[in-house]
Amino acid sequence: MNLILFGAPGAGKGTQSELLIKRQGMTQISTGDLFRAAIKGQTDLGKKAQEFMDKGQLVPDSIVIGMVEEVLQKGVTNFILDGFPRTVAQAQALDELLVKMNLSIDKAIFLEVPMKILMDRLTGRRVCKNCGAVYHVVSKPSKVEGKCDLCGGEVIQRNDDKAEVIETRLKTYEEFTSPLKEFYKKSGKYTEVDGNRDTEEVYKEIEKIIK
Ligand code: AMP
Repeated sequence: MNLILFGAPGAGKGTQSELLIKRQGMTQISTGDLFRAAIKGQTDLGKKAQEFMDKGQLVPDSIVIGMVEEVLQKGVTNFILDGFPRTVAQAQALDELLVKMNLSIDKAIFLEVPMKILMDRLTGRRVCKNCGAVYHVVSKPSKVEGKCDLCGGEVIQRNDDKAEVIETRLKTYEEFTSPLKEFYKKSGKYTEVDGNRDTEEVYKEIEKIIK
């Protein structure tokens, strides 16, 4: 089963991917995580990506597509694409890559969450700098403030989760990513899931879709 999990920033793609990894043994391909790792490692790719990410803008298609191609070439199966594709051009490029590699996508699952809820989720989101665990100041605080429950790493706010950047990210989502709904409806692989519910409820619905 190969999945695309898409939706606005804060819709819960990362959280649901984490559960799919743990419970279904799937492999997550998160372009956001790949860029953050490249930034941490101070690679050329990281330096290029950071310019765009810090402003809440999309990294250019050519950079993202090349990075995803490299990952797919390693022969991954049973994967979740999280945060990719994010533009129609990326979706078209992905289709070409899949044909070339004799792979296919089974479902494109869209997580629907109202704008106001997204703002709240993103402004309150905190992440562990070390292991990437995700917290929320109100709904899921770490046991000790600023310290990760899982690895003891420093819990911080992502640069792009600051209020002024969030606005740009949500606008960017509306303009470039939202049209993907139509793209995947045409392919017959589109499924919509109400993401404005308890994590477990959302997961159960995704599980039904992939079974
Ligand atoms: P995410 O962790 O998925 O919210 O991604 C964080 C940031 O990484 C985004 O705001 C973009 O700047 C960049 N990014 C991640 N995935 C993509 C993509 N598929 N296309 C362009 N930029 C991306």
